[in-house]
Amino acid sequence: MAGQFDAHSVRRAEEVLRDIFGYEAFRPPQDEIIQLLISGEDAVVLMPTGGGKSLCYQIPAIVRPGTGIVISPLIALMQDQVQALRQLGVRAACLNSALELPQAEAVERQWLNGELDLLYAAPERLMTERFQALLEQAQPALFAIDEAHCVSQWGHDFRPEYIQLSVLHERFAQVPRVALTATADAPTRREIVERLGLTGARQFISSFDRPNICITVNESASNARDRLLRFIRDRHPGEAGIVYCLSRRKVESVAEYLASQGLTAVPYHAGLDKDARANALHRFLHEDGVIVVATIAFGMGIDKPDVRFVAHLNMPKSLESYYQEIGRAGRDGLPSDAWMAYQLQDVIQLRQMIEGAGADDEHKRVERAKLDAMLGYCELTKCRRQALLAYFGEPLDEPCGNCDICLQPPELFDATVAAQKALSAVHRTGQRFGVNYLIDVLLGKPDERISRFGHDRQSTYGIGTELAPHEWRAVFRQLIAHGYLTVDLEGHGGLHLTPACRPVLRGETQLSMRKAMKSTASPGRRRRRAADTLDSSALAPEDERLWEALRNTRKRLADERGVPSYVIFSDATLADMLARRPTDARTLLAVSGVGQYKLDQYGEQFLEVLAAHPPGLDPA
Ligand code: ADP
Ligand code: ZN
Repeated sequence: MAGQFDAHSVRRAEEVLRDIFGYEAFRPPQDEIIQLLISGEDAVVLMPTGGGKSLCYQIPAIVRPGTGIVISPLIALMQDQVQALRQLGVRAACLNSALELPQAEAVERQWLNGELDLLYAAPERLMTERFQALLEQAQPALFAIDEAHCVSQWGHDFRPEYIQLSVLHERFAQVPRVALTATADAPTRREIVERLGLTGARQFISSFDRPNICITVNESASNARDRLLRFIRDRHPGEAGIVYCLSRRKVESVAEYLASQGLTAVPYHAGLDKDARANALHRFLHEDGVIVVATIAFGMGIDKPDVRFVAHLNMPKSLESYYQEIGRAGRDGLPSDAWMAYQLQDVIQLRQMIEGAGADDEHKRVERAKLDAMLGYCELTKCRRQALLAYFGEPLDEPCGNCDICLQPPELFDATVAAQKALSAVHRTGQRFGVNYLIDVLLGKPDERISRFGHDRQSTYGIGTELAPHEWRAVFRQLIAHGYLTVDLEGHGGLHLTPACRPVLRGETQLSMRKAMKSTASPGRRRRRAADTLDSSALAPEDERLWEALRNTRKRLADERGVPSYVIFSDATLADMLARRPTDARTLLAVSGVGQYKLDQYGEQFLEVLAAHPPGLDPA
């Protein structure tokens, strides 16, 4: 039955892509997913952030008769999407608890009158009797279950209402459903399929690689803040970013520090009052180049496509969280950075959090293993992206060429003797002490505690003067990362030997380690600009001026309408304008991201700016 509409619906979908969204071609497998849904079948879609999930249900909702119902867990996310769709001339609305009753009733009326292409709703709203009754009367074009990993009880985003969404299938068996998520792991995928009754659905699993994100990890004991500042100034002046810290106190001090250095930085954490948080979020979305310094409370459900960097000033608790957090950079596909500075103290602090959390032993064991994997990742000597993707079960054949290790391979040295000394120091002092104490022993420092414990009379006292303290710290970190030492379960930071260290102590294994980094250089010091997509060298002065003028026009139009700049046009669209320099409506329409509706709305303003900056006429 579906077959006979195929040729026609393919053409319709392509028209919608071009005329409404202003894009040239589908990014596979968008086309396949869209065809499947249009023909009435179900799909499960796993795509990384920025992969282009939204089009997969928006286009079928527009093409199919009736209204597409999108279930989304976060009000901010819904509002964002609705706003963006309306800017494209698509008839979209949302129903959530933020609406007053009369507003909600108005939306319901539009819906029943067939005046909506897409309706976004929170899951708890969807399950109400009222909504279910409305669904019976209206004609749902499809159900899109966004952020479908919220159905997983083991994930940190679990939403109990998601489990009830299986009734959609029972009540509306004819309506196609699509579940979408950016969460990569296989157990979650299985849970989505089982709990949402999608066993018959076709699965589309995309690569989780985000090649536009340059990954950098630095060890940094004391000067992380200064390094962060240098990184932002070098690579992302005036651009938007997120800086993650472990504690609220640190969030505040780092935000203050960055602001004192002339950057636009605002703090965000759960301890701030509601208005302060809303204000920070609003500024991040509506002003250009705002940096939010935040605890992990910030970020989920933020669709801002032009976040140019995500920085971590502490090690995250797992690679899962890390990958999710850095994924908030560069959704628009333009070059972006994931930058981290970490220290051994982070491991100790995270360990304390795990042990103090009151979870059962099994849970703690899992958390510890995740933390170990995280530290192992930080101390890698091979391509980070290969390791990350491998952790999520995806092979990457070649080193990526876009991480600190690929760009600036670490120097290795034979650390066998150093490791033996370090491990002996742990052993001889009774496996009770932390790294700083052990380093003092190795360096033979005169210290009251050391002499009180009699550790100055042992053979390991003063045997390590060939290395500097920061080099010893690197040795200890790598010994922990490679499983020769563990941090005590009590979380005081005391180091224990593991059985794995025996062959090292006996001299049966050679150990190679990366040298401690002293240099402050970050890979590719070159200043990156959003416009890099069109030309990876720096912009010519006249291009620079046009780029600024295009951005200013966008900002003005956005402010007039009370929407974020990227809702008018994305950076990618402005970059394409810069590259093509359209001179009339027809050529402007060829720019990626310019559809008919936006052409009508903003075409003239942008054509004026372009005309005022002809190429190759640099007055300077
Ligand atoms: P996701 O929801 O998977 O994180 P989005 O749906 O927000 O990703 O899409 C990310 C960006 O890519 C958006 O700016 C979107 O407009 C753009 N995009 C999606 N599909 C295409 C396409 N076929 N051609 C060009 N740009 C696209
Ligand atoms: Zn790499």
